[in-house]
Amino acid sequence: KATPTEPETVVKKYLEEVKGPPADEDCIICMEKLSSPSGYGDTCESSTIKPEMVGRLTNCQHSFHMLCMLAMYSNGNKDGSLQCPSCKTIYGEKTGTQPKGKMEVSTFPQSLPGHKDCGTIQIVYHISRGIQGPEHPNPGMPYTARGFPRYCYLPDNEKGRKVLELLRVAWKRRLIFTVGTSNTTGESNTVVWNEIHHKTEMDTNLSGHGYPDPNYLDNVLAELAAQGVTEDCLRQ
Ligand code: NAD
Ligand code: ZN
Ligand code: ZN
Repeated sequence: KATPTEPETVVKKYLEEVKGPPADEDCIICMEKLSSPSGYGDTCESSTIKPEMVGRLTNCQHSFHMLCMLAMYSNGNKDGSLQCPSCKTIYGEKTGTQPKGKMEVSTFPQSLPGHKDCGTIQIVYHISRGIQGPEHPNPGMPYTARGFPRYCYLPDNEKGRKVLELLRVAWKRRLIFTVGTSNTTGESNTVVWNEIHHKTEMDTNLSGHGYPDPNYLDNVLAELAAQGVTEDCLRQ
């Protein structure tokens, strides 16, 4: 693994300093005016980023106190990526906190409801219980892993195979699961799905996470994109 980049370096990589910020605009991180100092001046220290400094994100052009962005970054998993708190644009490569495990893929000829013209891709996720790392909500405490292996299904057509390749990228970036509290069971310190929906039933739809669902592939592509996983990742 590469040496972690200094938080200041990450902030300065994606924020361009602006001189004379608009007097009436607020910083949505600290809710202070951009023309007054960052609300994080007391809690976030930096030798090179001063509370008065304002920066604009290079692509989406949203502006914040640079110190506020530093505080936000330092609160996260410090993976070298930044996400605009205003429009959610991702800068760099966002990674998550999925515990270690295994992703297995196979195919079979039986078709899914709504995709009669092709076979099925089956993804099996294996994750076991373990001890939380520094990136998790309660470092040092155990986490449970319920209902594993988890079986998921995609139509084995062009779009389904594209989703599969993007899910492989998301798995590598640790974005498919996280450690937290399950909405379904209420259990905390457990492995849960993380904002990328999977179809865990194929010929029944008792949970609402099954087929048919004509919008599923488009929805999951949008959820992957929201995590920074797009077709561009496949060309690299
Ligand atoms: P969760 O309940 O916190 O939900 C997180 C996300 O996963 C939500 O977006 C939700 O819509 C989605 N989700 C919920 N149930 C799903 C399902 N059956 N298939 C696909 N997506 C689902 O997350 P969680 O606790 O990881 O998910 C709950 C699901 O996990 C259960 O319905 C079950 O399938 C499985 N599970 C099984 C056991 C077991 O002992 N067999 C225990 C816990 C969870
Ligand atoms: Zn601010
Ligand atoms: Zn933005």
